[in-house]
Amino acid sequence: MSESPFSGLVSPQVLDLEPYVPGKPIDELRRERGLERVVKLASNENPLGPSPAGVAALEAAAAGVHRYPDGYGFALKSALAAFWDLPPDHFVLGNGSSEVIEMVVRLLVRPGRSVVLASPSFSIYEIAVRAQGGRVVKVPLRDHAVDLDAVADAAAGAALVILGNPNNPTGTIFRRPEWERFLSRVPAGTAVLLDEAYAEFAVDPGFPQGRDHLADDRPLVVVRTFSKAYGLAGVRIGYGIAPPGLVDYLNRLRLPFNANGPAQAAAAAALGDRAHLGRSVAVARAGLKRLYRLFDAAGLGYVPSQANFVVVRVGDGDWMYRALLERGVIVRSARSFGMPDWIRVSVGLPEELDRFEAALDELL
Ligand SMILES: *Cc1c(COP(=O)(O)O)cnc(C)c1O
Repeated sequence: MSESPFSGLVSPQVLDLEPYVPGKPIDELRRERGLERVVKLASNENPLGPSPAGVAALEAAAAGVHRYPDGYGFALKSALAAFWDLPPDHFVLGNGSSEVIEMVVRLLVRPGRSVVLASPSFSIYEIAVRAQGGRVVKVPLRDHAVDLDAVADAAAGAALVILGNPNNPTGTIFRRPEWERFLSRVPAGTAVLLDEAYAEFAVDPGFPQGRDHLADDRPLVVVRTFSKAYGLAGVRIGYGIAPPGLVDYLNRLRLPFNANGPAQAAAAAALGDRAHLGRSVAVARAGLKRLYRLFDAAGLGYVPSQANFVVVRVGDGDWMYRALLERGVIVRSARSFGMPDWIRVSVGLPEELDRFEAALDELL
């Protein structure tokens, strides 16, 4: 990209960054192919839609958008404090949890310092670290799961370790004993960011809740989002849970009003909507079971998932992605994740999975 007339003006660490590649929007595929019905199983969104309580709160908040939002986020932080049984000074809000991840990286990673990531994992981690001038150290997954012992080995001298549990794109988790061993081994000068974007979907009884491992003197930030199980991806709201001594610093670099008012209101309402959350998790689990049966019958290998998506080995991920697109079904090729033989499929509603199944049948 050095052909830009502005390359000489730009921070060097930005010059060779690649922009984040989102799942293809439904309307874009409709426009491009003139397709009537398009099914998107590409961005791990909630196929049930948002929590109705969240939508009602959004509508109610619309009349107040001429005012700046509460920059501190009193109502949402109070709801989070009650939900997690922690004082409100343990929370920092973000314009999506991606912003919280980016803030933590900006706070903790000086240029030249290293940050340990599992590979493959969510691409935002690497973009945030490199944009800050940090050095990425990638620890390969083992049997598609985060190898926490190897991550701990690699953490010596690192500023930060970023881990997803469940991990995106593989949907695998690490369990409590491994996690506790990791925390005991991670060097004192290394912070840990635990991204729990999909934790609501994890049904494994050994799944550790990062919140239970917070301590006032431990540099651990747990990141959660309303974009997935709560169905609020479009309004952009997520948060971090951290010791007050870290939250205080995050508040210094946080832009004012970064979490918008309608999103805060919707999130607080959705947090209380246990019925919607329960339905969302049930849809994800039922959809995964159905996809496993389909893949088993077709002889395709897959990685059992604790999230709302699954990776499946199809031979050529890019080819399958394009062939499914032609049939109105959007998935993700896993090539950009370093898994060129695989695609990642988000769980949809039964009728959406019907479309996927019919298209896959045609192609196999
Ligand atoms: C979707 C996702 C998020 C959430 O991003 P938001 O900015 O909150 O929408 C965070 N981490 C991972 C691993 C994800 O897949």
